[in-house]
Amino acid sequence: MRDYQIDMHLNTERKQKPAFDQLQFGRNFTDHMFIMDYSSEEGWYDPRIVPYQPVTLDPAAMIFHYGQTVFEGLKAYLSKEQQILLFRPSKNMARLNRSNERLCIPKIDEAFALHALKQLLIVEKDWIPTSEGTSLYIRPFIISTEPYIGVAPSNSYRFMIILSPVGAYYKEGINPVKISVEQEYVRAVQGGTGNAKTAGNYAGSLKAQEMANVDGYSQVLWLDGKEKKYIEEVGSMNVFFKIKGEVITPALNGSILDGVTRDSIIQLLNYWNLPLVEKKISMEEIDQAHKDGHLEEAFGTGTAAVISPIGELFWKGEKLSINNGETGPLSRKLYETITGIQTGTLEDPFGWRI
Ligand code: PMP
Repeated sequence: MRDYQIDMHLNTERKQKPAFDQLQFGRNFTDHMFIMDYSSEEGWYDPRIVPYQPVTLDPAAMIFHYGQTVFEGLKAYLSKEQQILLFRPSKNMARLNRSNERLCIPKIDEAFALHALKQLLIVEKDWIPTSEGTSLYIRPFIISTEPYIGVAPSNSYRFMIILSPVGAYYKEGINPVKISVEQEYVRAVQGGTGNAKTAGNYAGSLKAQEMANVDGYSQVLWLDGKEKKYIEEVGSMNVFFKIKGEVITPALNGSILDGVTRDSIIQLLNYWNLPLVEKKISMEEIDQAHKDGHLEEAFGTGTAAVISPIGELFWKGEKLSINNGETGPLSRKLYETITGIQTGTLEDPFGWRI
């Protein structure tokens, strides 16, 4: 780790905190943020923790035009002993650098970025909510800042970390959602940017989500970009199916994001000696399993919701009800185990919690 000194410019006045029992996702932000800049001459320089404030950029800054940017998402929790807990944060820093690589953004020092995050969390400790299902959502991101409207990698960047206290994703435990299988639009293609966390993937996904919402579905199930046949992800989550006792998740193929929750579930299932396969799986196979009465559970996985059970899949005019639209036992067990490890109420045999 490079020996940077983080400058601290702390606010003497603190914001009025929102009611922690009525938090929405991603609407409130804490008193401070972390910033670090990059220039081709100096590399990454001037790490600082400063009051949360707007950013001033030249209108020609490259981020506004061609979207050269990456981001991450993870959470902090406070244990009963008032200790700040993070869940596998090195995985997020490593993924940030994989996204950087894909977007031609200079790599960050992962160990230093984690150290900076920990310093910021110490400053903002009293923003970590503690009631059931709540946490402090962490958003590290990098934007290209050079004022130039030619299509090329920027010569300057800004790395920031902002924090947002978030409420329970579901008001009463975990609730199954209705999902429409997307037939027209695709999220990502082989060779594209699907396995990077970059803004364009999300901007491009909005239309399908909007149309699904109009039809009463909360999200879409994404199929592959070439044949629209094989299952990739659900909304902005990875996806799992349980068919005849076996758990299946689409194998990482370059267009699927390598989720930290996905990886944790794979490790947990292996630890429990439950059958798990990562493979290419088509929507036809899911439909057939449903017709045969073998489709036991389906769920999305990601940092925000942890586990999001799928109660219904709408595909080619048919409604496939899964587990009678209720949360299945595996979904519940995974949710309880992962959130228990994250918040410190369960033992952590993997060393995931730091
Ligand atoms: N897929 C996409 C497209 C995502 O944006 C996310 C959220 N980061 C995930 C999957 C789940 O990843 P993770 O478990 O690391 O949150």
